[in-house]
Amino acid sequence: MVTKFTFVSGGVMSGIGKGVTTASLGKILQVRGFKVTAVKIDPYLNVDAGTMNPIAHGEVFVTEDGGEIDMDIGTYERFLDINIPKDHNMTTGQVYLSVIDQERRGDFLGKCVQIIPHITDEIKRRMGEIAARNNVDVALVEIGGTVGDIESLPFLEAARQMRLEQGHENVIYAHVTLVPVVDVVGEQKTKPTQHSVQELRRIGIQPDIIVARSKKPLLTDPKRKIALFCNVEERAVFTSPDLKTVYETPLVLDQQGLGDYLTERLKLQKRKPDWSSWEKTVNSFVSPEHEVKIAICGKYAELADSYVSVNEALRHAAASCNSRLSIDWIETETFEDKEANLQTLLRFDGVLVPGGFGARGTEGKIAAINYARLKDLPFLGICLGFQLAIVAFARSIGLEAANSTEIDSDSPNPVIDLMPEQREVGYKGATMRLGAHEIIISQGTIAEKLYRARRVYERHRHRYELNPKYADQLTKAGMVFSAKSGDARRMEILELHDKYFHFATQFHGEFKSRPSKPSPPYYGFIKACLDRKQGKTKPEFWK
Ligand code: GLN
Repeated sequence: MVTKFTFVSGGVMSGIGKGVTTASLGKILQVRGFKVTAVKIDPYLNVDAGTMNPIAHGEVFVTEDGGEIDMDIGTYERFLDINIPKDHNMTTGQVYLSVIDQERRGDFLGKCVQIIPHITDEIKRRMGEIAARNNVDVALVEIGGTVGDIESLPFLEAARQMRLEQGHENVIYAHVTLVPVVDVVGEQKTKPTQHSVQELRRIGIQPDIIVARSKKPLLTDPKRKIALFCNVEERAVFTSPDLKTVYETPLVLDQQGLGDYLTERLKLQKRKPDWSSWEKTVNSFVSPEHEVKIAICGKYAELADSYVSVNEALRHAAASCNSRLSIDWIETETFEDKEANLQTLLRFDGVLVPGGFGARGTEGKIAAINYARLKDLPFLGICLGFQLAIVAFARSIGLEAANSTEIDSDSPNPVIDLMPEQREVGYKGATMRLGAHEIIISQGTIAEKLYRARRVYERHRHRYELNPKYADQLTKAGMVFSAKSGDARRMEILELHDKYFHFATQFHGEFKSRPSKPSPPYYGFIKACLDRKQGKTKPEFWK
């Protein structure tokens, strides 16, 4: 099978939804029965996103095969409902590392090693490998950054060469730009789009498709102007307007004829799309009957972009419970200053403590978990949230100095400790316990009710774990460890059966949550919040 490539570049500025556009193009092809995959190019020098600060760069997404990668891959997985392997996130760091390695081995003996052709050849080789391995009709490749950046030039150059080598119908380019409205008259301004397309053409790429992000659909005049000045057909200019949910984007683009244009341009068979199941999913997000209010406890600075998958998983769970989700970020450091501040949590239907690293703010998180337990507010803990739930519980049963050694290395009750295999680890890149691992669930537990299975695979990213020395003592005091790792060494889920819903996981269920298939722990949490609000004595799934 010949895999065709659709490159997606971005103009004007970052953060205009290139990832969602790329995922939407994939969806549009998928509902026509074509097989697709998606690739993200990140032009920075880091080998992967694992060592980058999520506060500055956004969430680090974890793949099934243990990649710590760009969060756009998460968007692709959620839209396309496929697992994307880590080598689908290509960075300048990876490409240069392997070219320099080849040079040292002597593979280029006698030659001067240069960006063109050696770096561009390596980029094309990697594209070829992805095509060969995936056996798909179309690979969508998003080029990170904005056209005009120095860093992305070699990738754009490789994309340009690929069209020349593989043909006009096998490689196409879509360009995503912004059409702002600045004056009171509300005129849609096309100049920034014209400039960014000029920049692209200077590199030798003439876009085939333009997707303009703008608040409202493009009017006829600006659309014509874009077509004329950017040298694209008018029917190839599309708008991606603001919508109630991003999941509506592929539908809105296809209504404008994007699917037909795409298949025509790629010389794929013309097929009727089947949107029925996706439409159902979108509707569940658009008109919910109930409402659920969740407090996410963390540091203000972390905020939404560092927890995109947590947000999405909560949204998926809320939509499948026919409810609208409202999230408030609660600064836990304020709980450290004044205990009375904890009362703000009572305004919410449930409390979530997400993953995290380092000591700052942890005492406040522990206080929040403790408060949720005492007030019997539904609680979900993820990774660090799981570890701190153990610390909070241990302190309540007499281990007053209990802590994680990540926070206090001298704690006399180190209930959470570094995993033994981590002790020798010096390198920080890709050395945590990462990716999907087998999990065995015990019978008769909430976990079993939620997963409706005894063996599952969930994704991980951590260095610390429950110190096995304390497992018995905690169990005797009422903490139920309802799931363990495949080798039975590691505790993966905890639950308290005398509480309405007090549940935490060492893994990150959010990375596998999909719009119509919510992650079971997140579903359980939202359902418990709603059931409690509706006065049910127990969550419905726990009967
Ligand atoms: N810092 C903790 C660990 O390394 C938790 C990690 C996380 O929440 N992802 O184990």
